[in-house]
Amino acid sequence: MTTANDQPATAPEISIVIPVYNEEAVLQKLFERLYPVMDGLDRSYEVIFVDDGSRDRSPALLRQMYQQRPDVTRVVLLRANAGQHAAILAGFEYARGTYVITLDADLQNPPEEIPKLIAQMDAGHDYVGSIRRKRHDQKWRHYASRAMNRLRRRITNIVMTDQGCMLRGYHRDIVRAILDSQENHTFLPALGYLYAGNPTEVVVEHEKRAAGESKYSLFKLIHLNFDLMTSFSIVPLQLFSLVGIGVSLVSLAFVVFLVVRRLIVGPEAEGVFTLFAISFFVMGILLLAVGILGEYVGRIYVQVRHRPRFLVATVLEQRPEERKEP
Ligand code: UDP
Ligand code: MG
Repeated sequence: MTTANDQPATAPEISIVIPVYNEEAVLQKLFERLYPVMDGLDRSYEVIFVDDGSRDRSPALLRQMYQQRPDVTRVVLLRANAGQHAAILAGFEYARGTYVITLDADLQNPPEEIPKLIAQMDAGHDYVGSIRRKRHDQKWRHYASRAMNRLRRRITNIVMTDQGCMLRGYHRDIVRAILDSQENHTFLPALGYLYAGNPTEVVVEHEKRAAGESKYSLFKLIHLNFDLMTSFSIVPLQLFSLVGIGVSLVSLAFVVFLVVRRLIVGPEAEGVFTLFAISFFVMGILLLAVGILGEYVGRIYVQVRHRPRFLVATVLEQRPEERKEP
């Protein structure tokens, strides 16, 4: 097995990593567009497809592609669905290139944009993010992602104009740092940005999903964004300390006021509903705080179990002795 920690002498310059989950409808189109672009670059490359436990014909199609171009194709088949980011991590584990570029399988990131990223990496950038010129997703995805972008910028120090676009380039050193992090449920582009010394962004085209359906439901998106917040910032926790201090100061003033009032006016039983309103409000804050706390505790729990982030079933690749020396 070749891992990112040892770059063999025969390593290609560029590794393309593509997670694939039930993408039988688009794979053929992807092959037809990706390989000509890469061949046209006239540089050594490898394409690593990571099948994320697909239940359709994707693994069979990937196997076919491997048989057609075994010199530049490697296929990592995961045992079970591990999620997009874990699948990319698996690809990172096997990538040998100096530049590692990630791409979605559904052709929303046009392969024709890859040379743009490579040009930036040639210019010395160790991390190249991307901004979608015009998004072709459903409307609600636009608004949700813009709002999340804004919130994330507030509470983490990560500068990413467009967090959702997975067409990104990472220098091998960044990839190694990401792999060494051993983080579960992380958000790779943000982690990459964190480690980068000289990051940059390029504007890329964005297309409609060529075929098939998005693998992200609203629930999964919310979850991903929670991960993004909790793995890169403890501001939400600190916020609740501040709210706690605020609420206790106000209640202290209220208690003093009530005591003074009791002494001046005597016993009263009015204002029960105001009291209810106040206590419901505080209870709401408490529940939210417990929820946020739970997110962090959950992360710690997932992390300390040390379960593998993905399980590799098979890898289709040429053994070094079969490989033609360039
Ligand atoms: N993907 C994956 N595992 C998953 C979900 C998605 O490997 O559990 C892959 C999917 O095949 C695609 C990429 O991640 O290549 C992005 O997924 P999708 O296009 O469904 O997301 P969207 O573009 O809707 O955000
Ligand atoms: Mg997509």
